[in-house]
Amino acid sequence: MNSLQITGMPNYSTLTAVFDRYHTFALSTHINPDGDAIGSQLALYTFLTEIGKSVKVFNTDAVPKNYKFLPFWDIIEGVKAVDTYRPEVLVVLDASTLERIGKKLSKTLLPIQKLVNIDHHATAEAFGDINLIMPTASSTSEIVYKLIKHYQAPIGKECALCLYTGLMFDTGCFRYSNTTPETHRIAAELIETGEFAPDEVYRNVYEQVPVAKLRLLSEVLSTLQVTDNGKIASVYATQDMFRKAGTNADAVEGIVNQIQAIAGVEVALCVSEMTDRSTKVSLRSQGHVDVSQLAAEFEGGGHARAAGCRLLTHYLTALTTLVQTAQRYMDQSTFKDTNGRKD
Ligand code: 5GP
Ligand code: MN
Repeated sequence: MNSLQITGMPNYSTLTAVFDRYHTFALSTHINPDGDAIGSQLALYTFLTEIGKSVKVFNTDAVPKNYKFLPFWDIIEGVKAVDTYRPEVLVVLDASTLERIGKKLSKTLLPIQKLVNIDHHATAEAFGDINLIMPTASSTSEIVYKLIKHYQAPIGKECALCLYTGLMFDTGCFRYSNTTPETHRIAAELIETGEFAPDEVYRNVYEQVPVAKLRLLSEVLSTLQVTDNGKIASVYATQDMFRKAGTNADAVEGIVNQIQAIAGVEVALCVSEMTDRSTKVSLRSQGHVDVSQLAAEFEGGGHARAAGCRLLTHYLTALTTLVQTAQRYMDQSTFKDTNGRKD
């Protein structure tokens, strides 16, 4: 592969030349897609469609209910729909690795000409022919925004709503350390352009919580453990809890953020027992431990302050291993994630 990694000073022109040159595009993103995954891909879909390209979107997992307010969400197809379709260009967004679009999809959806990788994860692999990887960007949506600007195309109303949703989600509603003055400036422009109400976007994304999720939350929080030094907090979720609450492992999303909010906690982790008995792990850090490195020890990845991985062990074994590893990282750490700020 003629691999060209673009980090630091990104070269948007390489990518916009691909937009000009080719006609058929497919877009995909990671499994269990979130606001940035779907927001960035639907934004790129609207842009490419507006400049006259033929675009299809294929994801392994269905669009979660709370993102069905986004324009064009229903054009997203599943793995089966790929069939014999071969786009000239495949753009993978927000995925870290090609496999994270789903094993089957990564083997069926094959571009004839170019594989493009757009991502902002610290642990992103340069798996594409063209890799637009910007770890300092708040979100993949921010990179797509800059790409469209570089193309000197106007950002349409629908595109603006999708980009804003991605930006809002990946910055935790403009609270996380990846939020910069620039993020706010982009958000302001998107609100003006899109003519949408930010409070409605918030309500759509965060306030569609099913009762079952709160039932699960109460179960999961009852497993809370904090290490003696008060720095590592952990919870676990089991198949039994999902059954009782009437939900599944997807409902665990966000719980880890709540335990990270405990005073004095540096690392928060939530482990979930999956149907195949493997363990899915969510990690959060206050900035003294790079949890993307910690996750990478278990073949996962993510960002310095939010990462994940999957272990092929029982959830309680995984929990013990992870707490020990987190403690080791804390003992050894001279790391301080300031996200470019001098604080
Ligand atoms: P969450 O805990 O919200 O599921 O994920 C937090 C971050 O870690 C996200 O940016 C997500 O992309 C990344 N992440 C979660 N699980 C995995 C994994 O198994 N592998 C990799 N490479 N990244 C992950
Ligand atoms: Mn993202």
